[in-house]
Amino acid sequence: MLFDKSEFNNLVSKVGDTIVDTSKNLKDATMTTIDTAPMSMKLREKESYLEKQYFELGVLYYEKHVHDEEPEYEQIKRITEVLEEIKELKGEIAEKKGKEVCPSCGEYVDKGVRFCPHCGKNLDE
Ligand SMILES: [Zn+2]
Repeated sequence: MLFDKSEFNNLVSKVGDTIVDTSKNLKDATMTTIDTAPMSMKLREKESYLEKQYFELGVLYYEKHVHDEEPEYEQIKRITEVLEEIKELKGEIAEKKGKEVCPSCGEYVDKGVRFCPHCGKNLDE
């Protein structure tokens, strides 16, 4: 005999048990997902809100300490450098587009306009 029938039955029974277990686990997992979905959504909202608060605090801190002689955090220097790089890149893009960059809001504006159409800044000053 090529295979033992009881071994075969044992194997079939094991596979059957595994399928039942897997579907039970899947059902449990699905139920858990449905149960926790509102909490997960609330959690994401809270995390997103927290991130926004940290960002705003960072901007406020940066603005308060950007001119410190010895800034307490290395990030102050890095932010200043990146802001400078962004300003240069915007200037280059504006040049290619035949436009200018509003010094107040940073938007591209047509050359020679007296007021920024985005923020209303008087550009003649
Ligand atoms: Zn502007």
